[in-house]
Amino acid sequence: SEMATMMDVPVTKIISACMSLGMMVTMNQRLDAETLSIVADEFGYDVEFITADIEESIERNVDAPEDLLPRAPIVTVMGHVDHGKTSLLDNIRKENVIAGESGGITQHIGAYAVELDGGQKLAFLDTPGHEAFTAMRARGAQVTDIAIIVVAADDDIMPQTKEAISHAQAAGVPIVFAINKIDKPTANPERIKERLAQMNLLVEDWGGKIQSHDISAKTGVGVKELLEKVLLEAELLELKANPNRQADGTIVEAFLDKGRGYVSTVLVQGGTLKVGDYILAGQHSGKVKAMQDERGKNVQEAGPSTPVSVLGLDGAPQAGDKFNVFEDEREAKSIATKRTQLQREQSVRTQRHITLDEIGRRIALGDFKELNIILKGDVDGSVEALTDSFQKLSTEEIQVNIIHKAVGPITESDVLLASASDAIIIGFNVRPMGNARQIADKEEIDIRTYSIIYDAIGDVKDAMEGMLSPEM
Ligand code: GDP
Repeated sequence: SEMATMMDVPVTKIISACMSLGMMVTMNQRLDAETLSIVADEFGYDVEFITADIEESIERNVDAPEDLLPRAPIVTVMGHVDHGKTSLLDNIRKENVIAGESGGITQHIGAYAVELDGGQKLAFLDTPGHEAFTAMRARGAQVTDIAIIVVAADDDIMPQTKEAISHAQAAGVPIVFAINKIDKPTANPERIKERLAQMNLLVEDWGGKIQSHDISAKTGVGVKELLEKVLLEAELLELKANPNRQADGTIVEAFLDKGRGYVSTVLVQGGTLKVGDYILAGQHSGKVKAMQDERGKNVQEAGPSTPVSVLGLDGAPQAGDKFNVFEDEREAKSIATKRTQLQREQSVRTQRHITLDEIGRRIALGDFKELNIILKGDVDGSVEALTDSFQKLSTEEIQVNIIHKAVGPITESDVLLASASDAIIIGFNVRPMGNARQIADKEEIDIRTYSIIYDAIGDVKDAMEGMLSPEM
């Protein structure tokens, strides 16, 4: 039907043209490239495919090592519900009044930057939780340098604590534990550390390398020291960026404000964003009319690791969209338009995810080195047994990684993690829950469920040997 409109011919004619090619199609059917070309040709049209090439036309900024200067770390707070993520973010926000400036952080713009007494800076993403973190990763954006994982000392390592740990690890982001609520009489921070040790996560007090600090997000005890440990961890990462070029970075959030138009919070990752710059973000573009920091103050410039809210885009980009600065407004606009067109034309994502069926082919092509598996099961015993067996399947050519394992049904969060880490999901005696199946279908994530351990091991083994018979 879309094609009929584009060529201004009745849709029935297109359908019969397809029929003469031996294809029974409906009005809403999507045609492949070859069919499109043949049918268009019959009506005297040429087809030009706009492909993902437009992405390649965007000049990527490449920095010479000598242009790089140290930058502040970007931190995400994760952890189980009610363990104190929001309280910690609020505490940091409230306590931090930049020396010599009146007023703290008043605006919620999705991210904020703070400066410690020693002058060191940190930027925080203000949407706590690993879902937001992994949703961004699934869109190809990795903005977080360090994850603070909050664990309530009067509780335990909970399912979402484990998820947060797996999500941070899958992203290769170092973790600093904040053992929270130590003001409570029932708090037992040592027990939490012991439980972490049982999971092979040894914190410093226990002779390990992982930083942790006991805090109370409510009273503020220990928060400063926690942030110092985050900075210490950041030092090891030697985070750098070149501030002296056109900016690029990531959209943190965007919305339509009645009075001001589209407001987008961006996190600058390289270069310096200036008022007057033309930017392209996802499917939207525009000239930066004004910028504000989290204190509601107008700023003219924003350098690396600085979050600012930007006015002037012609729409609301999605969280996780990259932004770039363009010399030429028209170029930015034209790419934004092409992206919108592409989006409309491609009902399915361009990024394909791995499936068990495909592994053999990819191995044969030689571009497959790691098989990432998310493993969910009904009891701990089967999860551990399968983990062992899967890991033993690793060969010199292919490493099998269990990037997350847990007892429980397959959740949306598992699917997101699979999408961000190109993993397959294996369920043992468990099934997808809620929207997990739907999202998996949309994201093309392979979910396999088994009730016999040997079947699960057998399928993965066969897939790795390129011998799996396609699933019917
Ligand atoms: P989130 O779901 O992880 O964002 O948790 P919240 O920050 O919303 O905190 C959940 C509850 O725990 C709230 O009632 C907080 O007031 C409380 N809480 C958070 N941190 C502390 C703390 O350090 N001490 C005590 N006593 N309560 C806390």
